[in-house]
Amino acid sequence: MKFLIIDDEKDVEMLFRLKFRKEIRSGLLEMEFALSGQEALEMLRKRQPPDVIYIFSDINMPGMSGLELLERVKKEFPSIPVSMISAYGDSDNYERAMKSGAKEFFTKPIDFDSLKTEIHDVIK
Ligand SMILES: [Mg+2]
Repeated sequence: MKFLIIDDEKDVEMLFRLKFRKEIRSGLLEMEFALSGQEALEMLRKRQPPDVIYIFSDINMPGMSGLELLERVKKEFPSIPVSMISAYGDSDNYERAMKSGAKEFFTKPIDFDSLKTEIHDVIK
């Protein structure tokens, strides 16, 4: 089961691969990474229907923001759940994300325990 994680910070990929090493190694889940919303949309459009079952996206990114990406994914790929990860736990972003159909809202620094709970809920 493939998860797509979008963040403009390159270190995030390393962190996810480390934290989900066991699950990835055992084949329980796959993770793909994109550094921008644009790249993520291109990845999703490459396979029809997309094989990604869940998206985590940063909000604050150059170019397309995570909230814009959320809105586009909801239009183009309405069946894929999208959760936001944001450094700014401000209520504006939270409310806009929820209004646009985000599944969950996680704040940075990422609490990998709660992320793990969410991921295990999805794959079980
Ligand atoms: Mg960012």
